[in-house]
Amino acid sequence: MDIKSTIETVKGFAKEIAEIAKELDKAHKLMILGHKNPDMDCIGSQVALALAMREHAKEVIIYSNGPFNGYMSDYEKLYVNKVENIDDIDLFVVVDTSSINRIDVDFELPLEKVIVLDHHVTNENFGKVNYIDSDLISATEIIFMLLVFMDYPFDRNKTVVQILLDGILSDNGYYRHIRTDKYMSLIFTYLLISKGADPKETYDKMYVNNNIDEVKLLGKVLNRIESLKDNQIIYTHQTDDDENDTVHLSSALLFLQMTSIKTGKIFVYFKVNAAENKVIISMRCTPEYDVGSIACFFGGGGHTVAAGATISGDYETVKKKVLDKISEVYFP
Ligand code: AMP
Ligand code: MN
Ligand code: MN
Repeated sequence: MDIKSTIETVKGFAKEIAEIAKELDKAHKLMILGHKNPDMDCIGSQVALALAMREHAKEVIIYSNGPFNGYMSDYEKLYVNKVENIDDIDLFVVVDTSSINRIDVDFELPLEKVIVLDHHVTNENFGKVNYIDSDLISATEIIFMLLVFMDYPFDRNKTVVQILLDGILSDNGYYRHIRTDKYMSLIFTYLLISKGADPKETYDKMYVNNNIDEVKLLGKVLNRIESLKDNQIIYTHQTDDDENDTVHLSSALLFLQMTSIKTGKIFVYFKVNAAENKVIISMRCTPEYDVGSIACFFGGGGHTVAAGATISGDYETVKKKVLDKISEVYFP
């Protein structure tokens, strides 16, 4: 099957894709950036694009400060988190990142050299060329389309097809988040599997990869679940002592269980960092609600049904602010 004509038929290539391919073609030295606290969609997008561009004999820096949790630690060695000089970099590609303050970077980015590839509705279009496609469930799908457009020889590089599949399946929750208006990843994952990517390998990385203490922590955090408004708002928290270098609870694993509560509409996970007097919140909701706008209100962002923010203050204060806001907007 010809991948290019299949994508042309099912979706079509946006005009920005051609523009971005041209920019990539012209550039000699690239830096690929993503968001703070990278997830596998971010890492998959960065690494796949970087490996493919290196085959075009380009110098490519992949930048992130991590942390690289769980199976994402496999990719840490490919990254740098320091650069001496950015003057000789021709092009900065920012993936999976909705706003400038979410970019994981320690220096000022020259925006006139920035390309943005993203799928967040809240994206601020801060680059010179922006391809934002919120019909797609992952940013990795954009990288896939771009490489297809550039006639990348997928058969030659099993690593690239696997990383693309890993990135897509991570944001689509291994097919759980497919919706009637977000189904393209079904087709794209099929195309990648036809090029040698192994879905079982991705599954094992995502779901058969916890240590015993992580599953115990999941139990502990689930045990702390509380609810409001007739069990429509469901929330829980994690404290400073719960996580350490070898124990990390992924929000995906927690929400998999939390969202199984049938009455639940809005789900909040508070990750308390008392040492730095801040709380990281992760939220999910059913499609009639919009946690993205709640997250934006607190200086964060994300998607309609999955969003987050980092809020200063102690747990009790932050919890009250967030739950009051959700109650006021949706359950007055
Ligand atoms: P998480 O709950 O960490 O899995 O994040 C869910 C979604 O919200 C992801 O798509 C993130 O990109 C987005 N997100 C999380 N935290 C923030 C933040 N502080 N600012 C903007 N977007 C965020
Ligand atoms: Mn992401
Ligand atoms: Mn994403």
